[in-house]
Amino acid sequence: MGAYEAVIGLEVHVQLRTRTKMFCGCANRYGAPPNTQTCPVCLGLPGALPALNREAVRMALALGLSVDARIQPRSTFYRKQYFYPDLPKGYQITQGPVAVVEEGHLEIPGDAAVRGCEGLVRIRLERAHLEEDAGKSHHDLDDTSSHVDLNRAGVPLLEIVGAPDLRSAQEASDYLKALHRLVVALGICDGNMEEGSFRCDANVSLRPAGGTAFGTRVEVKNLNSFRFIRQALDYELGRQAALLERGEPVAMETRGWDAAAGETRGQRTKEAAMDYRYFPEPDLPTLTVDPAEIEALRATLPERPDRQVRRWQEAYGLGVGETQTLAQSPAFAAYFEALAEASGSGKGAAAWLLGEVSRVLNERGTGIEAFPVAPEALAGLVRLVESRALSFGAAKEQVFPALLAGEGSAKAVVARKGLAQVSDRGAIEALVAQVVAENPGPVAQIRGGKASLKGFLVGQVLKAGRGQLDAKAVNEILAEVLAKD
Ligand code: ADP
Ligand code: ZN
Ligand code: MG
Repeated sequence: MGAYEAVIGLEVHVQLRTRTKMFCGCANRYGAPPNTQTCPVCLGLPGALPALNREAVRMALALGLSVDARIQPRSTFYRKQYFYPDLPKGYQITQGPVAVVEEGHLEIPGDAAVRGCEGLVRIRLERAHLEEDAGKSHHDLDDTSSHVDLNRAGVPLLEIVGAPDLRSAQEASDYLKALHRLVVALGICDGNMEEGSFRCDANVSLRPAGGTAFGTRVEVKNLNSFRFIRQALDYELGRQAALLERGEPVAMETRGWDAAAGETRGQRTKEAAMDYRYFPEPDLPTLTVDPAEIEALRATLPERPDRQVRRWQEAYGLGVGETQTLAQSPAFAAYFEALAEASGSGKGAAAWLLGEVSRVLNERGTGIEAFPVAPEALAGLVRLVESRALSFGAAKEQVFPALLAGEGSAKAVVARKGLAQVSDRGAIEALVAQVVAENPGPVAQIRGGKASLKGFLVGQVLKAGRGQLDAKAVNEILAEVLAKD
């Protein structure tokens, strides 16, 4: 793919976690028996009038403020007309040329393989507009008929249109993760991708490396997992590159990701695209947002997850990759914050969370929410290791499992099992002297220049100290002894 550059822009549909639907009082809840959460408004019965859900507007504003977007003081709703059985009104209410949220940006880790260097890159958001969801058609419940469930008709959606700033499938997936983290952290979406609360379509094209004009784009629909988006885009980029290499044009079309076959498939060409005959929704007034409302809301917002990650890098000296993993979910991030704070060591906290804690979570197949050791309790262990009162080996092999088993605080476990690390100089010196005396051969070889044997002697001393010696002190004292004579 060296000759081409990928250009990707995502359109993400976020189902908002409001109590009620976008334009009526029906409950916004997933999984109720079919067609039990409907009323004349969301069924599109003649004469029924929509009324805007202000909670949905606040959620859109929260997203906008969190990506430093321009909040539009005035925006309007439009009707987008098309016919489909799950759209009872015959049109979808969406926002017109001006959206309530315009021009924001998010920071994601750039893909070093295509950017040529590591670091955060800024991905622009073109706009985020409010609209209503359609109902759901079921074509596979029986052999002879299709079924329509209108519980979802009228559920509030925020469509977030990203700029074509992404340069690889990896970046697209990282951007989607960053957005997912943000909407979950803001509490405006439950983030459930299997239930369709967070859906994504990807626009993808190639252009000659170093070029500025865009190539013809393909829209890949229905990418409902982070893995699928990476697989689908890698496949699609390969398909387009092969076409271009053969001198064939890329058709402007909509394709679907077939996860079972591992390929994208053509669905419809853009020439066949419908004319939606947009026009202003006459039954809804202009959506106005006043500055006081924006400032009041701003004061309640949590720290932006992408900024939080950057703060961790700067304050704790952590790498981009480490911080991305720590930010994998709001709960994980919160656990890390608490652990770093209580232990006084961001680096130590990160190492334990990404190491032993993640290993246990993977083994058990659970999230951090179900991890039995509170951050304050784990902090006790981190502090003992950081202050060199406990060796890392003993901490990992003995104290950590005891914490997991609920056998008391780290301090109590260390005292009960007699694991306190020996950093006492005299005790270490005695053991070093003993090991040096027992190993005249290796000692002579080291003094003769074979430095690689030092590790062997350190190991012998640690063993003699039954794993309780401060390894750093052992290294220092051994080096002093070997340098003498
Ligand atoms: P449409 O109205 O057909 O949906 P938009 O202009 O709204 O088109 O763009 C939709 C999405 O397509 C945006 O996320 C944008 O970033 C992306 N996009 C636009 N042009 C390209 C391109 N040449 N290659 C890849 N993505 C693109
Ligand atoms: Zn309703
Ligand atoms: Mg669009």
